[in-house]
Amino acid sequence: MPDKRTRQTEDLASLEPAVRVKQLAHYGTMVEVDPNVPPRRYYRSGLEMVRMANVYLAEGSLENAYILYMKFLTLFLDKIRKHPDYNSVPADVKSVNQVKLKEVMPKAEKLKQKLLEQFTKEHEQYQENEKKRVIAEEARKKQEQEDAKLAVCLQADENRQDANVKTPHLLHTEEWAVIPSAPPVDGVLYPDDFASEPVRPPAHHYQPVPPLIPPSRPHHEAAAAGGAGGAGGAGGAGGALRGVLVPGALLARFQALAARNTARNLELCGILAGVLERDRLKITHVIVPKQTGTADSCSTNNEEEIFHYQDQHNLITLGWIHTHPTQTAFLSSVDLHTQCSYQLMMPEAIAIVCAPKYNEIGYFALTPEYGMQFISNCRQTGFHPHPNDPPLFYNVTHIQLDKTAPVEMIDLRR
Ligand SMILES: [Zn+2]
Ligand SMILES: [Zn+2]
Repeated sequence: MPDKRTRQTEDLASLEPAVRVKQLAHYGTMVEVDPNVPPRRYYRSGLEMVRMANVYLAEGSLENAYILYMKFLTLFLDKIRKHPDYNSVPADVKSVNQVKLKEVMPKAEKLKQKLLEQFTKEHEQYQENEKKRVIAEEARKKQEQEDAKLAVCLQADENRQDANVKTPHLLHTEEWAVIPSAPPVDGVLYPDDFASEPVRPPAHHYQPVPPLIPPSRPHHEAAAAGGAGGAGGAGGAGGALRGVLVPGALLARFQALAARNTARNLELCGILAGVLERDRLKITHVIVPKQTGTADSCSTNNEEEIFHYQDQHNLITLGWIHTHPTQTAFLSSVDLHTQCSYQLMMPEAIAIVCAPKYNEIGYFALTPEYGMQFISNCRQTGFHPHPNDPPLFYNVTHIQLDKTAPVEMIDLRR
C-alpha cells in the first residue's frame, strides 16, 4: 500500500495544474490585518516574508516561496491600506516597501509559470501511471477469472472421481472444454488492492486572524475548501510547524546579560532572531534593545533600532526571551498579548521565560487555536485576568536544543 506521503503527492498530481496553482495563490491571500497591531509591524514582517521566500526559492521549495510572495503582495497591494493607522506609516518605510513590491511581482509571476510547468509534468506522469494501472488491473481481473474457471473445472473433476472411484481417469484438456455449464463466477471476490482510502475531511480550525507568515507544508485540502483561515493554523500543537533550533549557550548568555537587572529585581527582554535553513528555523542572535524594565514587565524603547539591525543582517524574528526575576516561569497576561503579536506574524514564534530564582526555564507559545483566538480577541491592556481553563498557552514541542550551535548576543542598550 502506498504510504501517506506518496498518496498525498498522487492526490495532488491528479489535480489540474492550473487548479493547483490557484490553490497556492488562494492560500497566499489568506492574510488579515489586525487593526490593533501597529502597521509598522506588518511592514517589518513583510521584509521577513520576502527574506524567507527567497530562501525557499534558493532551496528549491517553490510552493512555499510562491505562497509567501502571494502573501506579501496581498498584504501590501491591498490589505494594509485598510489599516486605520495606514497614514501614519513613515514615507521611507513605504518607499522601501514599494521597492520590494517591484522586486516581488515579477518574481511571483515567473514562479507561477515554473509551478505550472512542474505541475503539468506531474499531472502527465500521473495520467500515464493511471493508464498503466488500469491496464494492469484489467489483466489481473482477467487472470483471476481464468483461474476461477480452472478451479471450477478441477472441482467438477474431483466430484466425478468421487462418484466413480472404480474408474479413475484424468480429464484430457479437450474434455474440459465440454464440461457443461460451469457455475457462474459472480460469487468470486476480487481483492481490490487499489481501492482508494477514504478521504479524510479537511481539518478546519477556526482562527480569527491567520498568521502572516504561514508554516510550510500547507493543508491543501483546507486551502482548496477556502476554509476560514484554517490552513495557517497547523493541526494542533506542533502540527505543521517547522522546527525551531535553540543554541544551547543562549540561556546562560542571556541570563549573564540580565544578571545586573535580575539583582535589582528588574526584568530584561530580548528578541530571538535567526534564519530559515532547509525548512528549519534557526535562532542565531539575541537582540537586547533599549528598554524599560520593572519587576514584572519590560517594554522596548526603540523598535526601529531592532528592525534596522535585523535588516542589516538578514535576520527573521523567531520570538522573544525575558526574565522573571522573582517569579516562576509562566506567561503573564501582558506576556500573552506580546506572544500573540509574535505568533500572528510567525506561527512558530516562541517565548522563552527564565526564572533564575526558581531555576526554571519555560518555552511557551499560545495554543494555536483556542489561545490565539482568545487573546487576539481580548481588547484589554495592562495586567488583567484571563480564564486559564482551557489553557491559553502550552510548553512547545517544536523546539530543539543544539549544544554546539553558536549564538550572538547583540546588546543595543549601550
Ligand atoms: Zn513575563
Ligand atoms: Zn487579554
